[in-house]
Amino acid sequence: MPITCDVAILGGGTGGYVAAIRAAQLGKQVVIIEKDKLGGTCLHRGCIPSKALLKSAEVYAEIQESETYGIETAGATLVFPKVQARKDAIVEQLHQGVQYLMKK
Ligand SMILES: Cc1cc2nc3c(=O)[nH]c(=O)nc-3n(C[C@H](O)[C@H](O)[C@H](O)COP(=O)(O)OP(=O)(O)OC[C@H]3O[C@@H](n4cnc5c(N)ncnc54)[C@H](O)[C@@H]3O)c2cc1C
Repeated sequence: MPITCDVAILGGGTGGYVAAIRAAQLGKQVVIIEKDKLGGTCLHRGCIPSKALLKSAEVYAEIQESETYGIETAGATLVFPKVQARKDAIVEQLHQGVQYLMKK
């Protein structure tokens, strides 16, 4: 089915969806074409998941140093499936946010 629009954007990553929002703000009819998931590399494989994982690593590293500050945390364990679950939840929440924005 043919679709008529003012602007067609190929790719729903950071570049694409920000351009789509701007074009819509300027009153254009916008179509965004995405073969995978809205949010692209940054949201699903890049910035967001890497920073979520880094935060867990940072907290764990601080705990390892905690005795320096007079805090005993013996037995602290990094449970990687839980680290992954936290990261996945953050990505999913933001993915839903981007989908909502695109619908609007
Ligand atoms: C591990 C990692 C960490 C990063 N951390 C940071 C950071 O901290 N800060 C930062 O600024 N940048 C970071 N980046 C870079 C950032 O992810 C990219 O700069 C950004 O994603 C580029 O956005 P984009 O929209 O140009 O491309 P992408 O996000 O790659 O989006 C392109 C989209 O186009 C779609 N697409 C491609 N071909 C087609 C097609 N033929 N038809 C339909 N859809 C198509 C893809 O599925 C994809 O969703 C990181 C990257 C990686 C890999």
